[in-house]
Amino acid sequence: MILVSACLAGVKCRYDGNDNANHKVIEMVKKGLAIPICPEQLGGLETPRIPAEINEDKVINKKGENVSSQFKKGAKETLRIAELVSCYKAILKQSSPSCGYGKIYDGSHTGRIIDGMGLTAKLLSQKGIIILTEEDL
Ligand code: SF4
Repeated sequence: MILVSACLAGVKCRYDGNDNANHKVIEMVKKGLAIPICPEQLGGLETPRIPAEINEDKVINKKGENVSSQFKKGAKETLRIAELVSCYKAILKQSSPSCGYGKIYDGSHTGRIIDGMGLTAKLLSQKGIIILTEEDL
């Protein structure tokens, strides 16, 4: 089974209440090949929510609040689901502080991108799950 970022499957779970619908991901879910998950919602954050970025070892939202615990919980709950469904691969939304794989925002909330990994992508990858992003499709 494949896990996909729910926003790529058209779920309006982004911080601003929108989605990042990708027709290839939606087709995979429709065919029963993939399960949509949103780590930030699984971590207990509301939608819409204040955008957050990784800043060194913390996740800080635009109001300056530390939301690291919710992001860590979301990563752990995503891993729980991945193990339940014997997930071997995940297709995640690039640049997100949860789902980004290879690129993330730099923590300054200015739109600048740096090399890095979101918390969920990092945890899944450490557990041997192959990570792709929508840019690889
Ligand atoms: Fe999409 Fe992942 Fe952000 Fe949820 S946490 S909105 S699935 S990029």
